[in-house]
Amino acid sequence: MTAPTRRTTEFIRDLVGFDTVSRKSNLALIEFVRDYLSGLGVESRLIHDETGKKANLYATLGPQEGSGLMLSGHTDVVPVDGQDWSTDPFTLTERDGKLFGRGACDMKGFIAVVLALVPDILGRDLQRPVHLAFTYDEEVGCFGARRLIEQLEHMPQRPACCVVGEPTGMTVVNGHKGKMTVHCHVRGLEGHSAHIDKAVNAVEAAAELVAFLKAMARRLKNEGPHDGDFDPPYTTVHTGVMGGGTALNIVPRECSFEFEIRHLPEQDPGDLVLELKDFAKNSLLPEMRAVSPESGFTWEEFRGIPPLAADDDTDIVRHAMSITGDNKAGKISFGTEAGLYQRASIPTIVCGPGHIAQAHKPDEYVEIDQIGRCESFLNSLIDRLCGA
Ligand SMILES: [Zn+2]
Repeated sequence: MTAPTRRTTEFIRDLVGFDTVSRKSNLALIEFVRDYLSGLGVESRLIHDETGKKANLYATLGPQEGSGLMLSGHTDVVPVDGQDWSTDPFTLTERDGKLFGRGACDMKGFIAVVLALVPDILGRDLQRPVHLAFTYDEEVGCFGARRLIEQLEHMPQRPACCVVGEPTGMTVVNGHKGKMTVHCHVRGLEGHSAHIDKAVNAVEAAAELVAFLKAMARRLKNEGPHDGDFDPPYTTVHTGVMGGGTALNIVPRECSFEFEIRHLPEQDPGDLVLELKDFAKNSLLPEMRAVSPESGFTWEEFRGIPPLAADDDTDIVRHAMSITGDNKAGKISFGTEAGLYQRASIPTIVCGPGHIAQAHKPDEYVEIDQIGRCESFLNSLIDRLCGA
């Protein structure tokens, strides 16, 4: 077992104590980090969102010139509503070699390791800087990272490479799926259910679209494209929310649903959405419009998370793999900010403590051993990428 320093564990306790569920402000946590860094003589740059209630924190350690290694983590966590926790989710609890708390795994454990390392990093004679990037709103669309990337464009030194410390069990990951979310609203025509011929049933039209998506999901599973490095090894399509109708004897006028596509890097989710829209337009709309010219569909597509498909042959992948002992970089199916950094031409890997299976759940935890391994990993990586 690799034991972390006491300082790291204390930081996990501090960070978990801030309730930074995505719908709330993260400023208390950000100010805590800023004050800590400022006590060590490190200046932080806060990049706020439009409301001013959330912020990214960006700071540079070591030489202020040149490009270095960026260590990136999101400060927000998923809600605990309706989850059955054995202990208070915002009070870190240690049991059986594990640390329990909301965000312990995803991903305050990683941020704590980074914070605890700062005094050591400052004490080293670094040739290249270490940048810290702590973001907001990752869990609801990576909005903080998008804003940070806009700002990085204007900074004199862009990071040369990046580690996103999402939970990978401390294995090196250089690929993940992308994600696209679509909201569809169906407008029909209300009527008495005895006269369905004079009405347009929005629930049924929506149901046909959802069934079309389900058939698409089956086709992708059976016919591919397939990439065995991902689990599951194909693009997935899933409808998660649906609502419409008011009473059984009224033909429903409105119905909406939301679906997401988690796609392999090689697949364009826009093509799949087009397939659905073509089906709506050609197979459903003529019948609906024959009864009501106002009926139809409105679509809202949300900016997705781009996939990560990083080159194996970069310094960061090579060094990271030689430290962890991985002989092949892995791939994960969940989206992270890494795809955005990579798209902004910053070579990026995902590597962090804990396992995604333990995230987002009641009694989320991270193993203490994972935290210790993350400490030694970052120590070595900083030496190799930023040292003499
Ligand atoms: Zn996360």
